[in-house]
Amino acid sequence: MHIKSFLLLSFVFVGVNPIFSAADQKTVDDFRAAAAKANAVLTIPSWEQTPKAIEAMMNEAIAKANTALDQIGSQDLAKVTFKTTVVALDDLTYEAGLAANKATIVKETDTNPEMRTAAENAIKTFEEWVVGVDYREDVYKAIKSFADTRPKLSGEDEKLLKETLRDYRRAGLDLPPDQRKDVEQLRKELSKLGTDFDTNIVKVNAPVIFTKADLDGLPESFFASPGVRTGDDAYTVMANVTWQFNTVQENAKSEATRKQLYIIRDSLAKEANVPVLNQMLALRNKIALRLGYKSWDDYQTEVKMAKNGANAEKYINELVSGIQPKFESEVAELQKLKAADTNDPNAKIEVWDWRYYANQRDKQKYAVDKEALRAYFPFQRVLDGMFNIYQSLFGLKFDKIAAPYKWVDDLQLYMVTDSATGEPLGMFYLDMFPREGKFNHFAEFEIIGGKLLPDGKYQRPTVALLCNFSPPTADKPSLMTHQEVETLFHEFGHALHTIVTRAKYGRFAGTHVPGDFVEAPSQMLQNWVWDKKVLDTFAADYRDPSKKIPAEIIKKMNDAKLANAGVFYRRQFAFASLDLALHNQHAEDLPYDCVAISNPILERVFLPIDPSTTFVSYFGHLNGYDAGYYGYAWADAIAADMATVFEKAKDGYLDKQAGRKLRQEIYEPGDSRDVNVSIEKFLGRKQSIQPFLKKIGIGDQEKSKGSAGGSREAR
Ligand SMILES: [Zn+2]
Repeated sequence: MHIKSFLLLSFVFVGVNPIFSAADQKTVDDFRAAAAKANAVLTIPSWEQTPKAIEAMMNEAIAKANTALDQIGSQDLAKVTFKTTVVALDDLTYEAGLAANKATIVKETDTNPEMRTAAENAIKTFEEWVVGVDYREDVYKAIKSFADTRPKLSGEDEKLLKETLRDYRRAGLDLPPDQRKDVEQLRKELSKLGTDFDTNIVKVNAPVIFTKADLDGLPESFFASPGVRTGDDAYTVMANVTWQFNTVQENAKSEATRKQLYIIRDSLAKEANVPVLNQMLALRNKIALRLGYKSWDDYQTEVKMAKNGANAEKYINELVSGIQPKFESEVAELQKLKAADTNDPNAKIEVWDWRYYANQRDKQKYAVDKEALRAYFPFQRVLDGMFNIYQSLFGLKFDKIAAPYKWVDDLQLYMVTDSATGEPLGMFYLDMFPREGKFNHFAEFEIIGGKLLPDGKYQRPTVALLCNFSPPTADKPSLMTHQEVETLFHEFGHALHTIVTRAKYGRFAGTHVPGDFVEAPSQMLQNWVWDKKVLDTFAADYRDPSKKIPAEIIKKMNDAKLANAGVFYRRQFAFASLDLALHNQHAEDLPYDCVAISNPILERVFLPIDPSTTFVSYFGHLNGYDAGYYGYAWADAIAADMATVFEKAKDGYLDKQAGRKLRQEIYEPGDSRDVNVSIEKFLGRKQSIQPFLKKIGIGDQEKSKGSAGGSREAR
């Protein structure tokens, strides 16, 4: 996963390096001379130690930013310059963002609950403040005055001006005052409805009582789970608890049981949320129209790679038809299993069947003991192995350095330098194991982003990886699952994206790239841990390191992943399509019927559904990722496309030349130039969806080049 920090983003990760003792450990000061030579600044954040100090930090940051806003707003409009307007705004939002980033780390890591609460409050204060920044009319006037001078700007500077103006336009600042008020009012209503939509989802509680016979096929561990057995022959399944729903869908032999639970699950929050969603769609449409867009999907995608709703839709449609043969053959295989199982040659795979029969097929054909695989992935070995790979690929060197303050004992801090020049590029903290009160997923957090400072020096980034890997036990080291190894490779990719940045402005540095691109480089790096050549560089049995993972196991894992790719992606595409359709062009006076729009798409793109269900009423992404769900598949396809650069290179995923290219063309520029340009420079050709289709099992379609679905040029 990827966490977006305020204004800027970031992530981190931690390891234990037994080589250095405290006495000979380097410190950040050992790198200051080299940094000065490169005109760069290295900063280990100072960490507030009391709740009061956190509150004061945020208040000071906001006061300072307000002073800077006042300065922009009060200058002589006849003398405005690029520096005193657009750059000054980037400077102050960057600096205020540092306080929010730091508060986020405290909130997610501090062992003292009072500190976490203080940090949470500081973040709320920041969020309230940041909303008002867009509506500072005096600041907008100064920036507009500068734009009106028709300045001759180029490259990153030109992009900064253009996108700053775009932000104001999107907030309604260039509308006449009464219309702007109207938009603000609509936004407030939308935000309130969004909260209601989320609350209605969270509030849902849907116990369904079954007998043991109804649940035949489920593992014993399920019946023994707390709260499941609720009577003599009564077992309560919570339709709203995803793992319980999935366990039933994957294992219950009874189709009636699967169907009953599916209908309840896909009708959750029906009464409450169908009307709320209809109102939200109407409000979004109104806002888009007021702001001069033809639809909400155009508004949402304007700032993404897709650039407009039609591009996103066209792309998803191409993928839908592109994977048709794979989807069909998978469903046919599942159908055969169902036909044999039910003695009905005409049995159909319904939406409540696919998980069950896919699970049966996987057990028969691809069984891999995931727990036993852990033996090949002792944490320290994996960490060192990944370090070796990334250092070599990207031309970097990681040195463990002393952390002046540790929020937890096993926290580690590393310096990243360019291995050829010795230039220090930034630092990362690693906080890798779970504990009470800590952030409970895996993510990279930006603490200090890259930026050219007003004094002409470059602020190098500092980030943190906050993860929750399986901790060591009394008799075993930390042994990771293969999925955890994949997560580590992914999150550390985000860290490098942030650290090696060369963008001048905070808003373009590191991972501050369009939302439908930011995951692509890290998704690409996930390929590394499915490749025997890569795995053999570090994965080995912790009891006997001469033992590598057998080739047939790696093959089975890859086959299993591929076996369900058609069904998996068609389901994703169905969600992406219905999300775009809901936010497509719509007459303003026409009421919305969200179920009538979405249900037929689910059926057409995925599998037959029960007509009484209302999938969208419980689809939380519709508030937050609205007209954005397509981005998951979009980024996956770009990731597959970019991976071909390595796959065609001499040393495959370990190829240094390809690695350097990724660093130079993707990581370093960030969003300082259009990412479409960066991707094509990295690829050395136009973008294509063919590598993605090939990866999920559609044969190489190079021959059919030129036909629909061949390229992304349209974007
Ligand atoms: Zn991510």
